This record gives sequence, C-alpha cells and structure tokens, in this order.
Amino acid sequence: MDITKLNWDLEKDVIVVGFGAAGAVAAINAHDHGAATLVLEKMKHPGGSSILAGGAMKAVHDIEKAVAYLTATQGGRVGEKLITTFARGLYELPDYLRELAKVDHATVAVHPPHGSAGVYPFPGADTFFTTFIQEIPGFTGYDWCNTGGNLNGQRLIKLLVDNIEARGIPVFYNTSVSALITDTEGAVVGVKAVLNEKETFIKARKGVILATGGFEFNEKLKREYFEAIPVYSMGNPGNTGDGVLMAQKVGAALWHMWHFHGSYGFKFPDFEPAFRNALGGARHEGRKVAWILVDQLGKRFMNEYHPAPQDTMHRPLEYFDPDLPGYPRIPAIMIFDEDGRKLGRIANPLTAYEQHKYHWSFDNSAEVERGWIKRYDSIEALAEGFHLDARRLVATIERWNEQVGKGRDEDFGRPPGTMVPIKKPPFYAVYVWPICTNTQGGPEHDEKQRVLDPYGNPIPGLYAVGELGSFFGHLYLLGGNLSECVIGGRIAGKEAAGAGAP
Ligand SMILES: Cc1cc2nc3c(=O)[nH]c(=O)nc-3n(C[C@H](O)[C@H](O)[C@H](O)COP(=O)(O)OP(=O)(O)OC[C@H]3O[C@@H](n4cnc5c(N)ncnc54)[C@H](O)[C@@H]3O)c2cc1C
Repeated sequence: MDITKLNWDLEKDVIVVGFGAAGAVAAINAHDHGAATLVLEKMKHPGGSSILAGGAMKAVHDIEKAVAYLTATQGGRVGEKLITTFARGLYELPDYLRELAKVDHATVAVHPPHGSAGVYPFPGADTFFTTFIQEIPGFTGYDWCNTGGNLNGQRLIKLLVDNIEARGIPVFYNTSVSALITDTEGAVVGVKAVLNEKETFIKARKGVILATGGFEFNEKLKREYFEAIPVYSMGNPGNTGDGVLMAQKVGAALWHMWHFHGSYGFKFPDFEPAFRNALGGARHEGRKVAWILVDQLGKRFMNEYHPAPQDTMHRPLEYFDPDLPGYPRIPAIMIFDEDGRKLGRIANPLTAYEQHKYHWSFDNSAEVERGWIKRYDSIEALAEGFHLDARRLVATIERWNEQVGKGRDEDFGRPPGTMVPIKKPPFYAVYVWPICTNTQGGPEHDEKQRVLDPYGNPIPGLYAVGELGSFFGHLYLLGGNLSECVIGGRIAGKEAAGAGAP
C-alpha cells in the first residue's frame, strides 16, 4: 500500500488495540505521558478475558528474590533484562494499583501480606503475595457477565474503565482492527479498522500498542502450535489471535506459542465454552479430590492435583502414542463414586458473557440429570459405557483404593490428604479434555514492550502488551497475567508516548 496516497480518516498519537486490562493500562499511561490516545475494541463491552479473571495479581516484597524465582520458572526461555524489569514491576504494582484506585475510592487488598500459595518450590518463592481490587463502593458487578460470584476481575475492569473515562480517553467499541499500516521503512504508522461497518484508516503519529489478548478462539493457531488436539477454551470469544496475525504480517518474531495456562476440564456439545475443573488456582493439600483420571486403556496416568492446578494439569494429557496411533488421554475419563459426587462441584463455570451463563450444581446432580455426567451401578458397567477394558479398570480402581488405604500414592505422588476411595455405588464418569484458560504466545517483545523482528530488532512504532506475547514461556506464575497487563501496559504506554520507560 502506498501510504503517501492514503487518506487517513482519523489521527492520534497512540492507538491501543483491545480494551482488556493490558490495553486499558497502556492507554492510561500513554495519555498520562502526554499522548492523544484512542482505544479500539472489537466487542461491544470492555474487559476481554480480564473481566472474567479471578482478579488475583501477584506482587513481591523483594526484587532480587523475585528475579531468582522468575529465572528458575522461565526455564532459560526469557532474557535477564526482561526478568529484572518484570520483577521491578511486580514490586511497584501495589502502589500503582492504589493510585488507580483513587478514582473509585476502591480498596486494594493485599492477601496474605507475606507468602503466597500457588507458586512452585524454587528459591525466592516466599517473596510473592497477592493483590486484588477488594471493593468499589456501590459496584455490584456488570449484568452482562457472570463470574461465578467472584467480582475481582470485574472490579479491576470497572476501575480501569473509570480511569479511562476520568481522563476522557475515547474508546470505539464494535471496532475490529484488521491490519497494521507500515511506511516504506517498515515502521508501523497506523491501523485499518472496521468502524460502523466502514473500512477506516487511523494514523498513529507515535505508535500502535497491540493489546488484543490471546488466540484462545483461533482453532487454526491452536492446532498449529499446541501439542494436544483438540484444546478447548474458555474466556473471551473475541480473542481470536488477531494481534498475532497482524504482528506476523509486519515481520514480528513469535514466541511462547506452545505455552498455555490451562488444566483438564469439560466440554459438552450443547454448550459453547469449556468448563475448567473446580480445583482453584492454588493447591490445598488437605482438600479432598473426589476423582481419579484414567486413559482410554483404563489406567491412571497422572497426579490429578498439581501444585498450581490451573497451570500444568493439561500437560500429562498431551502424550501421543504413535502405535495406537493417537492420544490415549484425549479425552481422558474422570471417575468418582457416590460419596465423591457429594464432595462438591467438579467443574467451575467461571467464564461467561450473557449468552453463556451456567450454574453448576454443588452436588453435580443437575449435570447427571442432563446426561453430562454418566451414572453406572458398577465399575464393569462404567467400563462398558466408556469402551474400556473392564478387567483393567477394575484393577485400576482396586489399586487406587489400596493406596488410599495406605495413605500414599506410590504411582504418581498425589498428596495424601487429597485422596478419597472410589467404592460406593453408583459410580460416575465424564470425559475430560485439555482446557485452555489463556494462551501466552504472540509477538516477541523486549523490556520496553517493543515488538521484535526475527533478528531481535524492534519494529518501529509497534508494541505488544498483556497475554499477547506474554512474558511467561515455561511455567506460569498464578496471578501473573494480570500483573503483566499492568506492568507491560505502564511501560508500553510511556514508551509509545515517547517518554521512555518508567
Ligand atoms: C476464567 C479466567 C480466569 C483467570 N484468572 C486470572 C487471575 O486471577 N489472575 C491473572 O493474572 N490472570 C487470570 N487469567 C488470565 C488473564 O485474565 C488474562 O491473561 C488477561 O486478562 C489478558 O488480558 P489482556 O488485556 O492481554 O487481554 P484481554 O483481557 O482478553 O483483552 C483483549 C481485548 O482485545 C480485543 N480484541 C481482540 N482482537 C481485536 C481486534 N482485532 N480489534 C480490536 N479489539 C480486539 C478483545 O475483544 C479483548 O477485549 C484468567 C483468565 C480466565 C479466562
């Protein structure tokens, strides 16, 4: 495209694409550093996946300890400068949230003040703690989304929306950006968007910040980059990887595309989003977990309760056996008994915009009645229903019950306090699949959030923030994605406005 002949419909200093947490913080910071800023959002509401989140944001007491921990959990996939910048951002996070909170007289909670569950046992783990927006006077949640009684993500977005409005930063909803416009040198100088059903060209005098979230709902990208097939998603249906594709088109390197924050969970044909299992973000060693998982051969294959249950528990399902040929654990089968059914809901339908609301019954009885969970009078009948070898399944259940009796899972090391027997009929079974809470891949960026080309050179005028090309490329830090939205958003906003990193 010859941009010298292009008639721009509109002109701003900084264009932010996407109005989740990352885009909002980036826009606030670009504005606060003097840039005339515009936010473009594809959906009719703000919030993206951020509004559906548990709302936990990790922070740290000590930067050096955070560097040690992050270095271990990044597995050598991220450079030192980025790690240090991220650690500093985690340290500054609570104070920055308190600044934003002033607009709404909101309360920022720090919980617990020291230490935090859901981190891996690496050096420095004790420096982490969790923050979240605990209260906004008068705010009881948005009526167009359902976050299962947890309003922390909604409160974060409310706070950001109010900060955007207080600054008079314009936001165009129902506006999908479809391309980045570059000059003859390859610098990004604007975007093409569909606004009111009309193709619109918007010039960015200083920079474009991509904050389009992940590719949870782009089947082609998931198939291309993930080990497992299929992987089902929850979250914002607007997250179709547009930022990945647009950045690729202008020469960005991609990173962390394989990595997603996820677990095992449920997918039913008559309900669009997937449900994640009910094991929360952090493991509690004494929590009774009703079930075991078996593969299609009727054998257990994993510890069903990892230290960060919503981070890595999909990974054992990814195993591919070329002799079958296929994935013997996709789907895997979750099995529990009558006592287990009453221990509490097995799924947590956290995620829902208005058309996707679902309340899972506490004792799972409604889902048995719907036929989502199958009920059988014996293990043999269950085996037949799920096309399993009955003798092998019976042996698996007997072995499990024996280990529960001993209080030790010698096969896979599941924490003893979580183990319950599977003995009392009727027995229940349901297929489980790899579930993607959110993706981490996208354009690679440096510590200034500048998007890099495959040779490590910044593409002028282009920044990426949030889970689009996330910092996390190996293990996830619970509460880390939202912290990253704030940390990267602050940096990118300031950089794009031309003021240098904070
Ligand atoms: C159920 C759930 C619970 C979670 N809990 C936590 C938690 O407690 N703590 C934590 O740290 N993380 C959590 N996460 C992860 C975290 O919420 C996300 O990683 C983070 O919110 C991503 O923020 P973002 O701003 O990058 O993207 P999003 O919030 O998804 O925003 C991206 C926005 O860009 C828009 N967009 C996309 N394409 C275009 C386009 N072409 N043009 C214009 N707009 C576009 C989208 O519609 C969307 O509004 C959770 C995720 C889910 C799904």
